Amino acid sequence: FDRDPRTLRDAFLALRRHGDALAIGYRDEHYSHADVWARTARLAHVLRDEFGIAKGDRVGIAMRNYPEFVFVFGAAQLLGAVAVPFNAWLKGPELAELVAEAKPTVLFADRERIQLTRDAGIAAPQLIGVRCAELPDGVTDYAELLGELSPELDAPETAVTPDDVATILFTSGTTGRPKAAVHTHLNHSASLLNKLIRAVPVTEPDDGGPVVVSPPPRSCKLVTFPFFHIAGLNTLYNTLYAGQSLILMYKWDASEAVRLIEAERVTELSGPPYIVQTFLSAARDTGRDLSSLRALGMGGAAAPAHVIEQARAVLGEAVIPRTGYGMTETTSGVVAISAADFARRPASVGRALPTAEIAILDREGKVLGADSEGEVAVRGPQVIQGYEGAESDESFSGGWFRTGDLGRIDADGFVFLVGRIKDIVIRGGENISCSEVEVALGSHPQVHEAAALGAPHPALGEELVAIVHLADGSTVSAEDLRDHTAARLAPFKVPARIAIIHRPLPRTASGKVVKRELAGELNLGWLLDPATA
Ligand code: ATP
Ligand code: MG
Repeated sequence: FDRDPRTLRDAFLALRRHGDALAIGYRDEHYSHADVWARTARLAHVLRDEFGIAKGDRVGIAMRNYPEFVFVFGAAQLLGAVAVPFNAWLKGPELAELVAEAKPTVLFADRERIQLTRDAGIAAPQLIGVRCAELPDGVTDYAELLGELSPELDAPETAVTPDDVATILFTSGTTGRPKAAVHTHLNHSASLLNKLIRAVPVTEPDDGGPVVVSPPPRSCKLVTFPFFHIAGLNTLYNTLYAGQSLILMYKWDASEAVRLIEAERVTELSGPPYIVQTFLSAARDTGRDLSSLRALGMGGAAAPAHVIEQARAVLGEAVIPRTGYGMTETTSGVVAISAADFARRPASVGRALPTAEIAILDREGKVLGADSEGEVAVRGPQVIQGYEGAESDESFSGGWFRTGDLGRIDADGFVFLVGRIKDIVIRGGENISCSEVEVALGSHPQVHEAAALGAPHPALGEELVAIVHLADGSTVSAEDLRDHTAARLAPFKVPARIAIIHRPLPRTASGKVVKRELAGELNLGWLLDPATA
């Protein structure tokens, strides 16, 4: 990795190379790479001169995917400061807790988050309000910070090395309280280069002649992942570094996405599988011209097998669905699958990226052979050293990062995920992976999505139950769904009770169903405790 970009500072310095090419579109606002550079560099000077931000200081960001997220993040990186994005979906007390833990020197917040800081009494030393019509006392207005802009401006001087800390990012909190992952510049630049290598079309001639590297075609991505999670942040800097374009949305809206694809000639949409599915439903029978779309990416959660068919039916052969696997601690994807491989192995998430090593470990940490099931582990330059505030964490023992995911790797190196260690129901001593049950339920044509979970049981310890989101107007009964599952899985993996709902399952910002809260949130007490029915 001794090449440009070695740091995220280098990655943002590269904005100057791409001049007038579109960098960001948001509603009717369009910013070229030169525009983004002018704002980012100017903001870096303002942060240094007026707020005293220097290398290592923390810059908090609590906002939706606004263009300002990019400028603030970029400015922090140019200064060697540590960017700390907070989840914009949090309620006031949750945000207050994380801000108190991370202690940013300045906090940039959009209108709703400024309101939250007031309501929850969040004290950041310096608060800057972004896109706020009215500003409470003591909050600086972002709109007045930048003054006159010039694309000729140089970045402030500072020395940033690959081992310096670049970001602190919170995990999604699917299995517990979000953990504060500390990323160095090397973690991010390794992730960037791993993706860049894949994005550049390379042809290896059969006659052994020289490899042909073609310039990457124009790429314009519609961003559905929030920038405060690693998948969104990774898209942000990968795309800009490559001189390409990002189209932003305040929040996900499938029919607006369809409109934007036509209007902005979007070439790529990626997101959690449920977002991709809602997009495909909205794209079906639309009169819009979606011919610019070339790729459909899915990640963050298991993709149901029929999405591939659905994508083909709606968008034709030219649009290639693909997936990958990664997490906050591995600085986004470490495993990815090419379109041709995905068509042949729709159950796999792919093979390790060039510098990532993937293994399957047993409980004692011994590396298992091909096709054995165990815990997925990762090592390589994308893997963080640890969490903030935790002296040591057993996930990082033995040189591998233990992901908490269960899977296997076949003899060709393809990774298959089975589920999460913490997402297992132990029914009378038998382990059931919830994900396996969800896949079986999800294969029913009228099932939009399913969540399997454990319910307390006096004799078995736990029993398996499920919540299923059905299409409006569908007449499938819980009994039909049990039969459907029984035809595919062993009897002990058939849910004892199934609740049917006609609205989407509540999910986190990264597209995951939080099972800890699910039954309560949906008022389905009887599912967990039949005595209350
Ligand atoms: P927390 O660690 O706080 O409980 P989280 O693990 O959901 O939350 P993230 O780092 O955002 O937080 O998500 C990473 C996890 O997402 C992985 O460990 C894995 O369980 C899941 N995941 C990612 N990609 C895929 C995929 N393609 N298929 C299935 N699951 C995936
Ligand atoms: Mg995790």
